[in-house]
Amino acid sequence: MSSDSVKVAVRVRPFNQREKNANSKLVISMRGNATTITNPQNGETKTFAFDHSYWSHDGFKENETGVYIKEKESYADQRQVYNDLGQGVLDNAWQGYNAALFAYGQTGSGKSYSMVGYGPNKGIVPITCDELFKAIDKNTDKKKQMQVTFSMLEIYNEQVRDLLTPAKQQQKGGLKVRQHPKSGFYVDGLKSVPVRSYNEIERLMDQGTLSRTTAATNMNATSSRSHMVITIRFKQLYMNELGESTTKTSEVSLVDLAGSERADSTGAEGDRLKEGAAINQSLSTLGNVISALADLAMGKKKVMVPYRDSVLTKLLQSALGGNSRTIMIAALSPAAINYDETLSTLRYADRAKKIQNKAVINESPTE
Ligand code: ADP
Ligand code: MG
Repeated sequence: MSSDSVKVAVRVRPFNQREKNANSKLVISMRGNATTITNPQNGETKTFAFDHSYWSHDGFKENETGVYIKEKESYADQRQVYNDLGQGVLDNAWQGYNAALFAYGQTGSGKSYSMVGYGPNKGIVPITCDELFKAIDKNTDKKKQMQVTFSMLEIYNEQVRDLLTPAKQQQKGGLKVRQHPKSGFYVDGLKSVPVRSYNEIERLMDQGTLSRTTAATNMNATSSRSHMVITIRFKQLYMNELGESTTKTSEVSLVDLAGSERADSTGAEGDRLKEGAAINQSLSTLGNVISALADLAMGKKKVMVPYRDSVLTKLLQSALGGNSRTIMIAALSPAAINYDETLSTLRYADRAKKIQNKAVINESPTE
């Protein structure tokens, strides 16, 4: 068993067109692993250290195929973020550890860009899936078999929707979350599709992403209010000399969280995020779970971790303080206008750093 803390990375995006037009002031600077935010009102600075501080604000250009490439050494591109974060997730999966990667930040801060990416600028999820199959295809050992399944869901208003099931076949009121005595919470009836190549995953991801956007449009909402969870189950079956077979399994959860601005809409500062007018139960509970786990890690006694208070935290229970290697990427806006939100994202990320996980290898005789 190994105990390790949640890895936390932050990444700052370029100014968008609106911010450029408004001549926005830049409030973020980075130096090594440290990120500094400057209060545009009074010039006060606050500095936070993370496992990685990614500068993607400038120092790049778009090549002829639309890929953002480095112009300056300081610029962190999608590959670099994958190499630091996604690669580790894959290594863990091969070893039989569970792994989770989630993206946090206000709407428009760059969560989806880092996780999924846009067009030719593929994010961590597609690169990780691609690399997984490249590695599987290299296997020549006949005694070794590998199976991959893919599922994709969204949590909206505490209801779970299967993004791989067509709208017409969706169950009204969403799918039920149930508890298994050993393996914990799971979504009853969620599709888990066996996949044999990266292309199959890509197709499913496109289908799921479209389904997420369509549903949001129908409800007059935006997909920024929902959480998306992709789960990749990776199973390795080995046959030893005696003909006995062993199974190693790993569950990789990749989570694109809803925009964080609503969980914090009262502007509350400090320990627990207060419930705002338009609450997102899952996101505020995630904040409370992280705070509680950070308290536990700091040696505080009698702390109740409120996993059961939301659908998201039930499903992420093992990823948060449990049997998982976990990475959080916090997306930052560079603009002065978002100072308050960005500071609260930095504080959230700072708390997440303190969580201790206990990852164990999932290995057992094949059933
Ligand atoms: P979110 O998912 O947090 O709402 P997005 O990932 O959709 O935000 O990002 C908002 C916009 O900013 C998108 O147009 C995206 O292409 C752009 N963007 C975000 N991060 C980067 C980055 N690192 N480099 C270039 N563009 C980015
Ligand atoms: Mg998004």
